[in-house]
Amino acid sequence: MQSASESCSLCPRQCHVNRNETSGFCGAKNQIRIARAALHFWEEPCISGVNGSGAVFFSGCNLQCCFCQNMPISSENFGAEISGERLAEIFLELQAQGAHNINLITAGHYLLQIIPVLEKIKPQLRIPVIYNTSSYESVENLKKLDGLIDIYLPDFKFFDPETARNYANAPDYPEITEKAILEMLRQTGNPIFEKHLLKKGCIIRHLVMPGHRQESIALLNYLAENSDFHKNQFLLSLMAQYTPMQNSVYPELNRKITKMEYNSVLRTAQDLGFSGYSQDKSASEQSYTPDFNLEGVFS
Ligand code: SF4
Repeated sequence: MQSASESCSLCPRQCHVNRNETSGFCGAKNQIRIARAALHFWEEPCISGVNGSGAVFFSGCNLQCCFCQNMPISSENFGAEISGERLAEIFLELQAQGAHNINLITAGHYLLQIIPVLEKIKPQLRIPVIYNTSSYESVENLKKLDGLIDIYLPDFKFFDPETARNYANAPDYPEITEKAILEMLRQTGNPIFEKHLLKKGCIIRHLVMPGHRQESIALLNYLAENSDFHKNQFLLSLMAQYTPMQNSVYPELNRKITKMEYNSVLRTAQDLGFSGYSQDKSASEQSYTPDFNLEGVFS
């Protein structure tokens, strides 16, 4: 019988490659690979706080959006291989630096390697563990994180399967994401804050894209009307930071969002009564991408 690593079916891509020898769609082999582990100040205020979030950026990604701001790590696989023992040390080092949390960024393709590390180190962590994800994840695997993750930061990027097909080659993204986020909400329950910092809960993030205002509004209406999303409360984080890559094959993506686009989506969120976070439109002028320079990777 083949092991999970010999025929990887960890995520909806179902590549069935032998990750001992090669990588699949996510670009990841078996060994954990990370690009940076450092305090990070660009998350929502309840995550970054004053001291920063203890962000660990994993190399590779199973979604591969064509407009990704983190291309050097998501598709070019920049990073260095580390052991599970080193990952555990990094968590403790970030905690010692004063991080408000441990923030696992795009870690889904290393779930099999990370779970034993979390099981071992969790009793030594006094701060919450965050799972920061594109949400293109299977419910079966997310269930394995139950009790190990305190806060989920799932994206809900696309609501129209055609958009998901064009930009990420994943027409099933909306369907998969809905199920994944409902599982995350089931695990966390309602948000719990302590001194303005989130200790438990789920923040659903949505990036407003140029030319997709109506899709964003349809998503917000769906989240508001679907009773499954109200069994537990969540926070909504509406993001304005879309930055065009050069010469996208999709002409609509070659510009920033307009003030009108962002404000109309924001107004909808307010009218529907969501609570959470929004970014100033000036966020599209700023860079939220840190230097991927292996900071904090080695002891
Ligand atoms: S984790 Fe990577 S190799 Fe495994 S199924 Fe997903 S994309 Fe393919």
